[in-house]
Amino acid sequence: MLASGSAHKLAEFRRVFDGSHVSLTSPLDLGCQCDVAETGETFAENARLKAVAYARACRRWTLADDSGLEIDALNGAPGVRSSRFAGPTATDDDRNARLLELLYEIPDVRRTARYRCAVAVADPQGAIAFQTEATVEGAIGHAPRGDGGFGYDPLFVVGPGDTTMAELPGVAKDVISHRGQGGRAARVFLERVMRGRQP
Ligand code: IMP
Repeated sequence: MLASGSAHKLAEFRRVFDGSHVSLTSPLDLGCQCDVAETGETFAENARLKAVAYARACRRWTLADDSGLEIDALNGAPGVRSSRFAGPTATDDDRNARLLELLYEIPDVRRTARYRCAVAVADPQGAIAFQTEATVEGAIGHAPRGDGGFGYDPLFVVGPGDTTMAELPGVAKDVISHRGQGGRAARVFLERVMRGRQP
């Protein structure tokens, strides 16, 4: 099970598990909801909190991710607060507009940034069984471009060239993305676990 109500995250992780004998279910499909306060100071801590809480509530092998954007010129912000940046009611567009305001007049060489994704897997009793972390380096553009992906993708420029994550087809994002890398490592782990459980 994926410990998230985000349709975007589910779609990305499902693509990563495409062709696997392990399939990812959403808590919604299982009728099992769980609210987790993301009180951790790090992505890894928050991923563990989500994996453990959902696994205990739903009694399934559970994969959780906590992810976000770190901008060097903002000393790593929005970081673990990426989803809450610009206020609790802000939309993706609001958050992107706020970033552009904060980076106004910051030259290209200082607009470096990265996406970070911590992945944690818990067993059905809620014990952490696997953890990994992955990053993808990029830079913050000057205007949103592209309709793919979600969140900060229209501003996140990945080289070579001047392409934003939102301009890439989903599978091309997966090849380089923080979530793609973390998800593939979790896939290898979970396939080994599930194979061991088969009669
Ligand atoms: P989480 O649910 O606390 O992990 O929130 C992650 C937040 O970080 C999202 O709501 C986005 O704002 C941002 N984020 C994480 N990964 C991505 C991505 O792949 N593309 C765009 N934004 C992302």
